[in-house]
Amino acid sequence: RRFLSLSARLSYVKSPFPDVKVPAVPLTEFIWETVDKWPDKVAIECGITGRRYKYGELRSLSRKFAGSLRRAGLQPGNTIAVIIPNIPEWPIILLGAIEAGLVVSPANPTYTADELAKQMKDCAPKAVITLSGMYPTVERALGLTGKQLKPLVMIAPGIEPDAHVPRDSVSLLDMIQQSADSPDIRFTGDVHQTVLLPYSSGTTGLPKGVMLSHWNVVASCAEMNGEPSICLSEPATGLYYNVKDVAPAVLPLFHIYGMSVVMLAKMCHGTKLVTLPKFEPNTFFNVLDKNKATILFIAPPLMLFLNSHPGIKQKHFEATRYILSGAAPLGRSDIERFLNRVPSVDVLQAYGMTETAPGASHRLKGCTKHESVGVPIPNTEIKVTDVDSGVNLPPGKVGEICIRAPQVMKGYFNKPEETEQTIKDGGWLHTGDLGHYDQEGCFYVVDRLKELIKVKGFQVTSSFAPAELEEVLRRNPDVLDAAGLRCDRGGPDKRSGEIPKAFIVPKHSNVSPEDIQNFVSQKVSSHKQLKGGIEFIDSIPKNASGKILRRKLRENK
Ligand code: AMP
Repeated sequence: RRFLSLSARLSYVKSPFPDVKVPAVPLTEFIWETVDKWPDKVAIECGITGRRYKYGELRSLSRKFAGSLRRAGLQPGNTIAVIIPNIPEWPIILLGAIEAGLVVSPANPTYTADELAKQMKDCAPKAVITLSGMYPTVERALGLTGKQLKPLVMIAPGIEPDAHVPRDSVSLLDMIQQSADSPDIRFTGDVHQTVLLPYSSGTTGLPKGVMLSHWNVVASCAEMNGEPSICLSEPATGLYYNVKDVAPAVLPLFHIYGMSVVMLAKMCHGTKLVTLPKFEPNTFFNVLDKNKATILFIAPPLMLFLNSHPGIKQKHFEATRYILSGAAPLGRSDIERFLNRVPSVDVLQAYGMTETAPGASHRLKGCTKHESVGVPIPNTEIKVTDVDSGVNLPPGKVGEICIRAPQVMKGYFNKPEETEQTIKDGGWLHTGDLGHYDQEGCFYVVDRLKELIKVKGFQVTSSFAPAELEEVLRRNPDVLDAAGLRCDRGGPDKRSGEIPKAFIVPKHSNVSPEDIQNFVSQKVSSHKQLKGGIEFIDSIPKNASGKILRRKLRENK
């Protein structure tokens, strides 16, 4: 009822929860605020090796690691690229770098050298942290930046075979252990400084650095945690936490969903995280068997796995209160199929994006509108605007979803124009998602206005814009022009996601689609491969300003 009057009057939907206070403190201070309640509790453990750290250890090691980073010559404001899978050292690295005043730019460890080079060229890191097995790719990427970048390289040997440890690199684990002699360093700077710089395509174009400040990420954690009596962590909403919680960290921690929702917000509650460096059914079952997960954070493909894999048994969820799915649409039938098998577990859905650090809306316990992404989380306002006129739309009308909240990013790094096109009309972030809301203020995402291609993998649904593929394709000397498009994977199970397809204008007739596929295969990671195929055409349809008319391509397909 409250929504109705609000939406009629304001043309946007405000969170049904009272506002949560966002403390103006550095992210590290916010995270460690509660640590004295459980210093000896295991905070994070590797699901494969059992390597683990207690909460008290994490705090002291990260502060000392900050001292080691300073001793190694890194200065406040410098950027550090972190290219590692889910290992239990993640919080030490992340929070240590933050205490040292650095900006952390996380990157996907499965990226090719070409892809990493673009991010490193843009953010110009003064240090890179990676694993020894990934070093050759990182080294090639640094070479490709053409910027003479000579960052300090910290490698974590002992975590995997040490075949590729470069001579002048520093051992991350040694550095962490030797940090005991370093002075404690704490960040005391401005909370509006950028602290995280993940990369995202946004609504269009090549990946851009998303500048998230301490304030943005603290807001995101506070809104998820808050005071138990007034916000989402209220037991009645289903999204509550307690110190006995155990959560497998199978979603990648380099992605904002894993980093903010799974890791940082849960650390405030004394949750035990169990890290899995990659998704592999048997190790996942082992973690579920051994650790009695109370919360499971997933992306939709993992729900399809839970629904279909014969190894999944009801006993795996004996301790589980709820499963939270985000990052891509999860169908009603998939949720219902799971609930039929495991009725004791709530399946909730959240919606957000890297630019909102990441939460914006959340479906609450007991709400059976399974296809909905729920209501705005505390402090958050969401509206739907007409795509052509920009006018705010009433319930039931489909338009672009826009979000206004303290967790909305500061902007894109070094891209003022793109920032202005994305955050406008008094602080509204234009998501590029199409949706609507109902009379109760529940939102529904129905399609994407933006060009993004979302390819589903078990761990996370990876998104990228066709512009990235086009840039690679145009570098091929046999290609005159190119356009990328997303298409359904097709086949018997359309839910298995989208795949990229390319339209090519060849320079001559001596080139085949296979040649192009081979060229692309070496340049982009597996989820960006042109699994939708390649079609040769005479020209790419464009408007007067040169913008590719993808709708036209789609129609003619
Ligand atoms: P990313 O920044 O990679 O997390 O991607 C954000 C985008 O993922 C959003 O703009 C949506 O297009 C999509 N997305 C995230 N959560 C959901 C959801 N629950 N349902 C539908 N789409 C979603």
